Amino acid sequence: MASMIFTDPSSAAAIHRLPFARFNNGLISLRQFVGPPHVCSPTPTLPQTLSLRSPRSSRFITASMATEPSAKVIDGKSVAKQIREEISAEVLKLKDAIGVVPGLAVILVGDRKDSATYVRNKKKACESVGINSFEVHLPDDASEEEVLKFISDFNDDPTVHGILVQLPLPSHMNEQNILNAVTIEKDVDGFHPLNIGRLAMRGREPLFVPCTPKGCIELLHRYGVDIKGKRAVVIGRSNIVGMPAALLLQREDATVTIVHSRTKNPEEITRQADIIISAVGQPNMVRGSWIKPGAVIIDVGINPVEDASSPRGYRLVGDVCYEEACKIAAVVTPVPGGVGPMTIAMLLSNTLCSAKRAYNIK
Ligand code: NAP
Repeated sequence: MASMIFTDPSSAAAIHRLPFARFNNGLISLRQFVGPPHVCSPTPTLPQTLSLRSPRSSRFITASMATEPSAKVIDGKSVAKQIREEISAEVLKLKDAIGVVPGLAVILVGDRKDSATYVRNKKKACESVGINSFEVHLPDDASEEEVLKFISDFNDDPTVHGILVQLPLPSHMNEQNILNAVTIEKDVDGFHPLNIGRLAMRGREPLFVPCTPKGCIELLHRYGVDIKGKRAVVIGRSNIVGMPAALLLQREDATVTIVHSRTKNPEEITRQADIIISAVGQPNMVRGSWIKPGAVIIDVGINPVEDASSPRGYRLVGDVCYEEACKIAAVVTPVPGGVGPMTIAMLLSNTLCSAKRAYNIK
């Protein structure tokens, strides 16, 4: 079950950033612990109106918080399912029209069980929508040259429209060399510096947008959230989520602020946001008092926390205290079942787009 959940942060570079130390030997080591299991810690009392003194200033902040959950909950699972159905129909149309089937190649090096599970799940997702998947599995002691040779072959193979190198790679390999070898036309993860550079520049179009941030924006669109002119705060500035999410929001004409680990008084900044995207990896960091009433909250964080009542001994929570957010925000994504399922759907979408682009089909 856990492996199914963790498939979703599927973009290659996301994998080694998951907060598990190792899945090897079937053991899971938790980085963070919070309790009690079903509420943010410490248990919040939830008055109608919160009057809080900012920890670093003498100002009082007042925010009204409903006593009952009132936020609309975004169902990422069902949106992702709908997207997969749309992709499936388009794949069929493409095949009927010109006889082309989109193809995704995944290169896996080594025997990490978690990586093998992610690759297997990507393969299954491809199959479910009719995309061909090609898998290369090399031993842990394979050379960098071998990996580069496979990438070069896939770059030249017209039946392959997307290439993904499963990370982490063994330590003797230079990750940057390997990722840079993937041609920009098949960089379905969207991490190539040229794709990120184009994303950042006005008047330029990236060929691919990284899957998780793309999934966040897709959720906002599909739930009719107006982005133009809104104040957006992205918490986290990683290359794979926070930074591209901020660039995407800016492209949608939001006024964007990025909060990171060195930001002073982050809660004062987030309280001004109409839209918050949080990609930090800290369980329940964003409390109700950080949120402006009526804000839209997209929680990318996937954090395992100890939970003795769960058969697995842990459960997953986001960066945002869900119970509190539901009482103050207008729209919230749950964890799991919010952004997670969108990531792999966006990977399939990028692969389909790549195939269509290769044949100049709109
Ligand atoms: P990351 O590379 O570790 O980046 C975390 C970011 O959060 C960094 O920019 C860091 O700031 C910032 N940060 C850390 N502590 C902070 C704090 N106390 N206050 C404010 N900012 C803080 O993580 P990531 O790869 O972006 O992933 C973030 C979370 O999203 C993780 O829980 C991960 O599992 C999850 N994720 C989910 C999906 C999905 O499909 N749903 C995909 C990818 C990742 P600095 O830059 O200053 O260090």
